[in-house]
Amino acid sequence: MLFYNTLNKKKEEFVPIVPGKVSIYVCGPTVYDFIHIGNARPMIVFDTLRRYLEHKGYEVNYVSNFTDVDDKIIKKSIEEGISAQEVAERYIKECKQDMEHMNVRPASTHPRATQEIGGMIGMISDLIEKGYAYEKNGTVYFRTRKFKEYGKLSHKNLDDLRSGGRSLLVTGEDEKEDPLDFVLWKPKKEGEPYWESPWSDGRPGWHIECSVMAKHYLGATIDIHAGGEDLVFPHHENEIAQSECCNGVPFANYWLHNAFLNIDNRKMSKSLGNFFTVREIEKHYDLQILRMFMLSAHYRSPLNFSHDLMESAKSSYERICNAVDNLNFLIQNAKTEEMSEAEAGKAKELDGFTQQFDAAMDDDINTADAFAAVFDLVRFANSEVSADSSKAFAQAVKDEILMLGDILGMKFEKKAEVLDSDIEALIEERQAARKAKNFARADEIRDQLAGMGITLLDTREGVKWKRA
Ligand code: AMP
Ligand code: ZN
Repeated sequence: MLFYNTLNKKKEEFVPIVPGKVSIYVCGPTVYDFIHIGNARPMIVFDTLRRYLEHKGYEVNYVSNFTDVDDKIIKKSIEEGISAQEVAERYIKECKQDMEHMNVRPASTHPRATQEIGGMIGMISDLIEKGYAYEKNGTVYFRTRKFKEYGKLSHKNLDDLRSGGRSLLVTGEDEKEDPLDFVLWKPKKEGEPYWESPWSDGRPGWHIECSVMAKHYLGATIDIHAGGEDLVFPHHENEIAQSECCNGVPFANYWLHNAFLNIDNRKMSKSLGNFFTVREIEKHYDLQILRMFMLSAHYRSPLNFSHDLMESAKSSYERICNAVDNLNFLIQNAKTEEMSEAEAGKAKELDGFTQQFDAAMDDDINTADAFAAVFDLVRFANSEVSADSSKAFAQAVKDEILMLGDILGMKFEKKAEVLDSDIEALIEERQAARKAKNFARADEIRDQLAGMGITLLDTREGVKWKRA
């Protein structure tokens, strides 16, 4: 399996630290508002990577944080007259709902920065002790030049950075030894949330949060660290500096970065105001279609969001769902159960689609080509399965489509709509069974209805029902 590693600027064979296991850290969102579909891109892409690794038999420990203390959260809390914690709680909940609807599985752990402050104070103390950090008037800075490998991820040269260094200097930071130094801990301003520390009542800088949470949940060296390409510099560069100076071992072996989701060829972002939230898109489209749109491009290619591309994702999605629907019909109405010899031969071709799919995914998670394998399989289904096919053959083809779909996090089987008339017929049958004292059958029907999301209420006026 090859991954393009930002660290070495080339595709490299993936070799995990522990055979059979993979540790992944993905930088998560700052929770001060609903997430936009740009934020959704890394979530969908790296969730797909996780699913694929599991399909290959790896045990994956997937950690993605929520940044729940930050200037933007504090600003929102002041605007709304609620605590920063309440703002964060609210948007973590909303983000988890969006993730669920996009079929992004919850991480193994979703650490929150505010619950890891002790670890941050510990790492900062270590860095001071080792001479990599210093305190000035309650602020702690990282001594960037002392880390000889600084710039190795973003491939920036320290002297180039220094000549442009003035721009790195934020007002009030004139006390820094060097403009390249960055903040590890800063004192609170009036009204801001704070924690006690040896240097001041204050809060951690953003970069130290990820170094600490990655180490806490995954260890000093991790297999894969991922996020959007805007994070390469300075965020990930600074994470490497802090972690490697503190721990004395490489921080992450593979660095994966997704390209931007653009709109009119400009990055979709809150600050530019050119964004759609996931929630807005959900009003118009099933979020499976958003997922399909995201995965229709390679994760390292910029992707331009447009109505036309969403419509095209929608028709592609429906084409696959229709094929599955059709297979369901053929399975239910098949005249024979077992595969014929000819069918058994054809069924062997199904492995070829898995191989085509895996080859695409092995090549730096090429989801666009993986989808091509799914479409080839759908064409195979449409041409090879008919009313004359056996149930077993139609089922094998359907299973293959659903299996590949599941790796991409796509649900191609729409839930069959349960008609009122079907429910009423079952209820009548249950009443008849009870009258005949066939309670086993009556219970069975109740369970069947429960499985369809129908709750029965035995009332004095008779049996009533409602949908869950
Ligand atoms: P933020 O909340 O801005 O820190 O972003 C959370 C994640 O979303 C990071 O991995 C960002 O790199 C990523 N991200 C933000 N905007 C975009 C975008 N327009 N396209 C792709 N990824 C993005
Ligand atoms: Zn991070």
